[in-house]
Amino acid sequence: MSFDSLGLSAEILRAISEKGYDKPTPIQQQAIPLVLEGRDLMGGAQTGTGKTAGFTLPLLDRLVKTSKSGKGRRPVRALVLTPTRELAAQVHENVQTYGRYLPLKTAVVFGGVSINPQKMKLIKGVDILVATPGRLLDHVSQNSVNLSKIDILVLDEADRMLDMGFIRDIRKVLTLLPEQKQTLLFSATFSNEIKKLANDLLHSPALIEVAQRNTTSERVAQVVHHVDKKRKRELLSFLIGSNNWEQVLVFTRTKHGANRLAEQLGKDGITAAAIHGNKSQGARTRALADFKSGKIRVLVATDIAARGLDISQLPHVVNFELPNVAEDYVHRIGRTGRAGNEGEAMSLVCVDELKLLKDIERLIKADIPKVEIDGYKPDPSIKAEPINRGRGNSQARSGKPKNKKRTGTKRAQSTDGKPKQKKHWHKNKQKTQQLKAG
Ligand code: AMP
Repeated sequence: MSFDSLGLSAEILRAISEKGYDKPTPIQQQAIPLVLEGRDLMGGAQTGTGKTAGFTLPLLDRLVKTSKSGKGRRPVRALVLTPTRELAAQVHENVQTYGRYLPLKTAVVFGGVSINPQKMKLIKGVDILVATPGRLLDHVSQNSVNLSKIDILVLDEADRMLDMGFIRDIRKVLTLLPEQKQTLLFSATFSNEIKKLANDLLHSPALIEVAQRNTTSERVAQVVHHVDKKRKRELLSFLIGSNNWEQVLVFTRTKHGANRLAEQLGKDGITAAAIHGNKSQGARTRALADFKSGKIRVLVATDIAARGLDISQLPHVVNFELPNVAEDYVHRIGRTGRAGNEGEAMSLVCVDELKLLKDIERLIKADIPKVEIDGYKPDPSIKAEPINRGRGNSQARSGKPKNKKRTGTKRAQSTDGKPKQKKHWHKNKQKTQQLKAG
């Protein structure tokens, strides 16, 4: 199947062809005609499947074909909500790329950067807005955006938005949108909470799923190396050096762990940077750009920070520490083997993490091959110890009911849409700290 047969307008086809795509990916083949028909959609898609173009291309097409000229500020007609700043920036980049020959205005808003330039842009009027929920509500409260004319709503990575505690923000945004609209919901996993949100939101949705839920891409070769905790860093440096890996995404469980590892790798002569929620937006953007351009070899990330990173043809992902939540393993290794490329995902597992490994293998319904590395065989006399999960991180991500009631009237300012600690939010303090652990 070619893009030409999908019914997209010539300007969009031109942009796609300039981007170098030959044919639509499976999710694009399924999603594009349905969205063009105006159907609501519930999409189960792993990262790296091409889902962003899957919703962006038909969204652009519909907007441009229903363009209304009128007096006054042009109303926002399409809203894309994403969980993280990085994903918002990437989706917006896609919207700009695919829409470059269309007369549509776009903007992206997320926290962690000054709100004023975003306000100026919004006040001039945009057709498509990509946003993280917290910063969007900041704009609503400052009257810089009116959402009452939205025709198309996209919830991207809805599972992660709920994991991050955004459900109240999302529900608040929904009250500001018109009843009559097209809604597209994408999620890598389908918890009961997601199903409930979808039930409330979608009208006779078409269901599409390109990879079985919680399965890992066949293009990613997975392997486990058992190793003692205190020798993990040494083994990682050895693997990077001896295999001559040039671009490696490494996951740690905590922000502190990410910082420390990036520093240690630097001392081993391997250029590395850490990316996590405590870094300023500037530092995160710089680290990502340096990693993409090859200026640094290793990007060390926590789960939340890494969500949505799209680095094309990323060949190696290393789980320096296994995630607390088994599903995050699927997300992590989905960073490699994207859009048809081969990838390699390696997990360094110490005795403390054997239960986490079991949980992952149960989830993906497969045994991950174990390969022993000469000289790094674990010492059998070392006994398992409890895992340092980062400040209460596991509870925040476990999906347990959260005390998310706001006790004040003023909205807390947000960074990447993440709730920030504020006095009137004291009840929520513990939860906020948990989120910050990511
Ligand atoms: P996504 O799942 O949307 O994050 O996309 C993953 C990667 O696939 C991105 O780098 C896209 O640029 C790329 N991509 C999207 N659609 C196609 C396509 N039809 N052919 C080749 N690559 C694509």
